[in-house]
Amino acid sequence: MVELDEVSKGYGEVTVLHGVSVGIQDGELIGIVGPSGSGKSTMLNMIGTLDRPSGGTVRVAGHDVSALTDRQVSALRANVIGFVFQQFHLTAGVPAVDNVADGLLYCGPSLRERRRRAAEALERVGLGHRLGHRPHEMSGGERQRVAIARAVVGGPRLLLADEPTGNLDSRSGAGVMDLLRELNRAGTTVVIITHDRGIAASLPRQVEMLDGRVVEGVRT
Ligand code: ADP
Ligand code: MG
Repeated sequence: MVELDEVSKGYGEVTVLHGVSVGIQDGELIGIVGPSGSGKSTMLNMIGTLDRPSGGTVRVAGHDVSALTDRQVSALRANVIGFVFQQFHLTAGVPAVDNVADGLLYCGPSLRERRRRAAEALERVGLGHRLGHRPHEMSGGERQRVAIARAVVGGPRLLLADEPTGNLDSRSGAGVMDLLRELNRAGTTVVIITHDRGIAASLPRQVEMLDGRVVEGVRT
């Protein structure tokens, strides 16, 4: 599903990824762990085609990202990848169902069809009774569920989550983790950045980052 080969990334003088090579199989549930500043988000942004590497190759779902036009990269991202962030990134003042329906904007169905699918996705994350709630009317855990519904409403094969439980109490965090596991069981490849050792240890495989490198020799 994902293959990073000797991927490096620099910003001006500063190199933040030093030749990172990682393969992720279709259907995996994998954690990316490491201290703050170790390059986890930068690596996830490479996998998610949100940013281009300074060197090396990124392959996603069989495509060499560097060989694609910007338009093709956008299409790959819209059709194959879903994103979940620590800060939820929901649109303020907009009901849950429309926040989720926005996840289908690039796929082209009518508003009515987008809302129908959004309601279904919210049902799937246990929020069928919160369709009309706006972000400020929901708990952090509920907001993150809405964000997950938005990420998966288009049926992505790959779900990337950057510290999805970072802003949640442990109970809501556990609920979000259960949901991500469930999506993985249903066939989605799931990559989760976490600095929570307990969460990381509960995942079938972990990649550990330190100072912009993958640490070798840890349990994988
Ligand atoms: P993590 O997610 O593991 O905390 P990041 O990938 O966000 O780490 O950042 C890794 C390093 O890259 C940090 O030292 C950070 O300051 C630096 N960095 C990230 N983005 C930029 C940027 N746009 N410009 C300059 N430096 C950056
Ligand atoms: Mg980060």
